[in-house]
Amino acid sequence: MTLFRFNFSKIANKSLALCFMGCAILSTTVSAQSTLPKGNAASQLTKSKLIPKAFQQVEALNDKVIQWRRDFHQHPELGNSEHRTAGIVAKHLESLGIEVKTGVAKTGVVGLLKGGKPGPVIALRADMDALPVTERVDLPFASKVKTTYNDQEVGVMHACGHDAHVAMLMGVAEILASMKAELKGTVKFIFQPAEEGAPVGEEGGAELMVKEGVLENPKVDVIFGLHINSQTPVGTLTYRPGGIMAGVNDMKITIHGQQAHGAYPWSSVDPIVVSAQIVNNLQTIVSRSLNVTENPGVITIGSIHGGVRSNIIPEKVEMLGTIRSFTAADEKLFIERIKAIATKTAEAAGAKAEVQIPYSSHYPVTFNDITLTAKMLLSLQNAAGVDNVKLKPPVTGAEDFSFFQEKVPGLFYFLGAMPKGNDPLKTASHHTPDFYLDESSFVLGMKSLLNLTLDYFGN
Ligand SMILES: [Zn+2]
Ligand SMILES: [Zn+2]
Repeated sequence: MTLFRFNFSKIANKSLALCFMGCAILSTTVSAQSTLPKGNAASQLTKSKLIPKAFQQVEALNDKVIQWRRDFHQHPELGNSEHRTAGIVAKHLESLGIEVKTGVAKTGVVGLLKGGKPGPVIALRADMDALPVTERVDLPFASKVKTTYNDQEVGVMHACGHDAHVAMLMGVAEILASMKAELKGTVKFIFQPAEEGAPVGEEGGAELMVKEGVLENPKVDVIFGLHINSQTPVGTLTYRPGGIMAGVNDMKITIHGQQAHGAYPWSSVDPIVVSAQIVNNLQTIVSRSLNVTENPGVITIGSIHGGVRSNIIPEKVEMLGTIRSFTAADEKLFIERIKAIATKTAEAAGAKAEVQIPYSSHYPVTFNDITLTAKMLLSLQNAAGVDNVKLKPPVTGAEDFSFFQEKVPGLFYFLGAMPKGNDPLKTASHHTPDFYLDESSFVLGMKSLLNLTLDYFGN
């Protein structure tokens, strides 16, 4: 297997960190408005006059959007291989008279729709990639695609719902293109590859798109994106101002000791005992160094390797782990504490610990600009109804939309797609073979994106 950008390729592959929705993200019943900053800018927002027309078109287009989604679902493609998907997207955008650029960040497609009136540049983003998961859902359009992934024969499935994201944004593009002359600004449609991580050794995703200048020419003012969710009820939107999904870093800790016969431990410096002490001591970071009343955090050791048999104390132990934080300050705190605890614990035992936290494994916090979120909440409420827009607890999974938000203010929110009456805890989560979406959710997905766009333009 080819190495990733640093020397513990397999573990630090970003695919491990990605938008994993399987953590039973449930909406809370907290009033959405209760978290808004003072001077809520929502009152300054005027509902666009184009909305009723746009909504009519959503209803009319919905069957076509469902057909697109089913086609993508049946033909899923892994990150940086979304050739077929990208081809369909590009052809559709071109047919609408939208300026199209292909091959952005390998397989990405970017469409530019210049409205008839001057105004801001809004980017709308949909990710296109599928996952190495074998579908088990009994659907006429279930995926039967197989491929080789990391030297293993695997099924390929849209097990995160990116097929729906692409189809909905194609629908939104069609509707906005039909009102081009009236639009007070420009829309940049970003169809992004490899959100779930690029293949080992390759760059990809939002980070590469940003690097290739997707937010420039013309310069994007704000970006909106949604993620469908299989465990929140259809008809609801969930959002959070500030950090909505975690920032991620991967770590590798290597403990160097002194090898010895297992019967004579006094002649060793035992890296296995030291690794156990380090794992325990790391638990104090979240429990004793983080202000848990402000933000959550996670430090997990997911892998320990050392030794080959019962009566040999090995020379070294390697541990791999993941670090999840919601602010840059907490991220810094975690990294400093991990380094200090690992090296000092080892030192106390006469061993040596080496800590690697490569920047290339870093994902920023998916951070919803506070002012923008406050301003656009009304648009989400207009699309879904006030009672159906709910505040979401922070999610310790990550999402590479954060790379766009690092550069421009953005709003990322979730679209419920769990069939009504289902128990979220008994409903298949994302990235699993039984992952299922209620397609009746697409109408609200499109309406919410249209509301955000038209309202922000002040149309
Ligand atoms: Zn995912
Ligand atoms: Zn996803």
